[in-house]
Amino acid sequence: MKSISKLIHLLAIATTIILSSCSHKPLRALVVSGQNNHNWKVSHLAIKEILDNSGMFATDIALTPPAGGNMSSFDPRFDKYDVVVLDYNGDRWSETTDSAFLKYVQDGGGVIVYHAADNAFAGWEEFNKIIALGGWEGRNEKSGPYYYLQDGKPVLDHSPGHGGSHGMQREYPMHCRNANHPITKDFPDNWMHAQDEMYDRMRGPANIKELLYSGKADRNTGGSGREEPLVFTVDYGKARIFHIMLGHCGPSLADTPAMQCAGFQTLLLRGAEWSATGKVKQSLPADFPTERAVSLRKDYGKSNGVNK
Ligand code: ZN
Repeated sequence: MKSISKLIHLLAIATTIILSSCSHKPLRALVVSGQNNHNWKVSHLAIKEILDNSGMFATDIALTPPAGGNMSSFDPRFDKYDVVVLDYNGDRWSETTDSAFLKYVQDGGGVIVYHAADNAFAGWEEFNKIIALGGWEGRNEKSGPYYYLQDGKPVLDHSPGHGGSHGMQREYPMHCRNANHPITKDFPDNWMHAQDEMYDRMRGPANIKELLYSGKADRNTGGSGREEPLVFTVDYGKARIFHIMLGHCGPSLADTPAMQCAGFQTLLLRGAEWSATGKVKQSLPADFPTERAVSLRKDYGKSNGVNK
C-alpha cells in the first residue's frame, strides 16, 4: 500500500511538472486571405508555416469567398486573436465584418499589414489610417502625400501622381532606421534581403509611428530613385500595427525567395510577437543575413525556428 501511495504521489508531481511546462500557451494568430492580385494560395500558407514553425504561434486561416462572392459568409472572430495578419487585397468585406475589424483594432488589437494588403480598400478612409501608406487601386494625391527620406529625414510630398509602383525584382540592402525598437533591437544596420520587389511611391495619411527599415529604390532597375519606407509601425490609437512591405510571393513555397529570406521571417516573427504582446523575447537568429549575403530558410523555419 505504501508503495502505491508513493507512486500516486510521484504521478501527481509529474503531472504538475508537465502541466506547468505547458503553461506557455502559443499566441493566437489569424491570417486573413482569399483574394489578392498576388498568389495568396501560397503566401497565406507561407505565413502560417513561418508563424507555427517558430513554436510561438497557433495560426488559423480565414478565407473570403472568391471575387464577386457573397461576403456575408466571411465573418471571422477577430477578437479571439492576439494578432491578425492581413494577406488580402480584394472585394470589400461586409459592413458587419468591417465594423468587427475596426473594433478589434481600436480596442488595441495587433495587426500585421503584409505586402499587397496595403493595396487593398483604397476608398476606405479608416483602413488607410491603419496601413498609413498604400499603393495602386486608384490611389493618388487625394489619398495623402508620398512619404520618403531625404538626407535621412522624412519628406511628405504632396505633389500629384499615382500611388504605388516598384522596379524589377532584385536582392537589395535593407537600411536600419531604428535599432532601439523591440522588433529591430540588435539588428544589423544593413543586411541583404533576398530577391523581392521594392515598393515605392506609396502614399496615404502617412501616420508612421516608428520607421524601422528603408531601402533605396534604384532608378537603374525601374525604381523611384528615392529612399523608401519598407518596414514600420503605425500610429493608430492603442493598436499595435506592424507594416511590412516585403515578401512578394512566387509560384510555390519552393520558389519564393522573398518569403524564404531569414531576414523577412525574423521581421515577421518579431513583428507578430510585438503586435500580439507589445514585447519581443526572440533574440537575433544565427542565420540572419549579413551585409553582403542573403540567407534563405527554404523550410520556413521548420528546422531552425526560434524555439528549436
Ligand atoms: Zn508583389
